[in-house]
Formats: sequence, C-alpha cells, structure tokens
Amino acid sequence: MKKQLKRGLLVVLGTASLSGCQALQTVDRGLYQAAEQVSERDRVTGQRSLSLADRNAQIQQGNGYIKQLLDAEQKAGRKVNSALDAAQYERLVRVFDRIHQVSHLRQERWIPLLIERDSFNAFTTGGTYIVVHTELMKQLSDDNELAAVIGHEVAHTVANHLGESQGHQMASRLSGSKSAARKGYQAAFTHENEREADRVGVLYSALAGYDPAAGSNIWQRQYQQEGNARTLFAHDHPVNAERAAENRQSAEKVRTYYTANKQNPKYAELLVNNTLWQQRGEGPAAGEGGGLMAVLSTAAGAYMQHEQTKSEMHRQQQQSAFVKAVEQRMKLVSAEQLADGSLETRWQFQANNPPLKNLVMGLMVQQGKKVERVVAHIEGRIAPGQRFPAHFVLPDSLKGADFKKLPTRFYVDDVEPSQ
Ligand SMILES: [Zn+2]
Repeated sequence: MKKQLKRGLLVVLGTASLSGCQALQTVDRGLYQAAEQVSERDRVTGQRSLSLADRNAQIQQGNGYIKQLLDAEQKAGRKVNSALDAAQYERLVRVFDRIHQVSHLRQERWIPLLIERDSFNAFTTGGTYIVVHTELMKQLSDDNELAAVIGHEVAHTVANHLGESQGHQMASRLSGSKSAARKGYQAAFTHENEREADRVGVLYSALAGYDPAAGSNIWQRQYQQEGNARTLFAHDHPVNAERAAENRQSAEKVRTYYTANKQNPKYAELLVNNTLWQQRGEGPAAGEGGGLMAVLSTAAGAYMQHEQTKSEMHRQQQQSAFVKAVEQRMKLVSAEQLADGSLETRWQFQANNPPLKNLVMGLMVQQGKKVERVVAHIEGRIAPGQRFPAHFVLPDSLKGADFKKLPTRFYVDDVEPSQ
C-alpha cells in the first residue's frame, strides 16, 4: 500500500532537553539549611570568589523553590521519595551519596528528591537538593549512567552557573555588547555551562568509582534515537553527538582515577588539580582551557568567556545554516508505509557540491497534542545528485496511524560536509 505523505505545518515545539537543567529563580524563604563550611574561593578552580554570604543566599533562594515544589506535590496528592517508590529512592540516595562525597560541596548536607513525572529529567535549583523524575530512574537502569546525571546536576551548582549567567549579562551590558542581545547568544552561553557541568560530572563519577564513560553512552544512545535536531530546538544543551564525543574524551582523561566501585583515596587533591583543570596560576593552565574559562567570573574571565561564547555561537550558527541549506536541496522522491508499520522513503540530494556525510533525516508527526519525532541515520557518503533511502522505524503509538490524515514534516536533523 502506497501512501503519499502530505506535508503539514511545522508545529510549535517546546524545548525538550534530556537532562533539563532548569534555572528557576523564585525567591522565597523555605527549608533553609546553613552551609557548614564553604570556601571563599571558587570551588572548582580557585579563581572565583564566592563568599559564604553569597552561598547562603544562593541556598536560601534555591531551597525556597524546593519548598514550593514540595508544597505543590502535597496539594496535588502526589507522593515523593520512599513513599513514592522505596526501591528507586534507596537507589537514588545510594548513588547520590557516593557522588556527593567526592564533590566540591561535600561539606554541605544535600538531600535527593524523587518526584513522580513521566519526563526524563533531573535538576538542581542552586540550593542543597537535587530533584530527579521517576521516568529518569526508570530509563537509567544502570547506576553508572545515573551517577553521570547526578554528577552533572551537582556540577551546575558547584560552578555557580545560575549566578554566573546573571553576572555575565551585567558584564555584557557594562561593556556595551550588542551580541548579548542577539538571538542565540544565551543558548550558546548555556551550552558552555552544559559542557562544563559534563566535565566536572565525569570527574566526580571517576572519583566515586562509577564508570566515567557512562555519560557518553547516554548521549550516544540519544543520538541514535533522536539525532541532533540541530535546527529544531534552541540549543541550551549541546547537540547529542558532540556531547557524546566530548564526554568520551573527558572520560579518557580521568580514566586513571577510576577503579570500579571504589572511592579514589586521593579525591580531595584531585578535585583541585587533575587532568581536566588545575587550580593554580592565572587563566587556563592545563587540560581543556575552555573548562577553566567557563568558570571564571572575574572581569577578565567574563571577557574571555564572552569571546569564547561568541565563537561557539558562530560555530553553531554556521552548522545550523549548513543543515538548513542541505534541507532545501532534499527532494522527497517517494514514501511508502510498509506492512510492519515502518516508513520507507527515497530522497534525492539536488546539489552540485559538496558531498555529505553523517546525514540524519528526521520526521515529525503530530498526533493530537503530541509530537513524535523519528530519525533515520544514513550510512556513508552522499554525492551530489545521488538518490538514497531513509527508513523510519515508527514508535508503537504511530504504527497504525494513517499518515495521510496527520500533519507530518520531514527535516534534515544533522549533516556534515564530506571532504
Ligand atoms: Zn545541565
């Protein structure tokens, strides 16, 4: 049976992030716990000063939001933590404790919260809580992967990312920068924060005895399942393929610190100086320069970070423009719904140059209020003028769907020039 697909409207999509790090700014007094001991120097590199008063204010703000969240859960009659799922909460606490014990904030008393949500998400609010959704626990059956997510979230608070972006915006305004106002800038800036949180999290995993490569596995899997969606979303998170590669590189650099299920006895020293960053001297010293730069918040640091963000934004814009240009040259030749419910499409790349590689074709289908996204990875090189197939394996919810009646849209998810 052949079905000609109708091109529908592009539906409005929200920002779907795998590890959605929500920057919530609700100031309220709530479950305030004074930090017992906070360094006056930057917790990661020693180059930023964060006073005890600053950290206390941050905790108060962050925990105020948590108080609101817990009130809302109670009002809605939703259980949390052990009452919600004793086994999963015990697991969350166990993995969290190991990561927290080797983190820069180990002197603070932190509490993990498990809440009932069917989205893959975990977040921190700058205080002393980490909130994890039940769906994330369900999808990550591997503790190494759970540790990667927890380490990443703790790192956001450690590196003071919420406070930094505020300070950064102020610095941009003072320097009269116009690019800060430009679209995409904020996304790129947050993108840097995400990369940094990944690097710090990878170190925590290794020091706590969890496989530091687990984070890269999550992103690789995500890439296989949904591609990069490069032009669909504002990228407050690095695209999946890059994130997988960067996590893999970081994991290699810290591999010598890792022994399975054993805390590294030198963890305190390694938090200060390690193969990813070093806490002495001026400016970036070793390892990934970007990792250091991204956490500087001195005047010079803000400037360097600003430059780095600009070039990152530029790179993202160029890549998105390339993907869009390729998309305009893709012609749908045929589309056929097979007996197993999958969709076989044929395409022609109508261009003179250049050849392509790592092409990922995407299909969006709107069904009721829900938008399903499926991708097909095209192996090998695609020459100009070439025809090629793209096979979309549909999720169960779409198996019996009549595509003629549903709004659909094909898109180019990601692609690179092949030189
Ligand atoms: Zn994040």
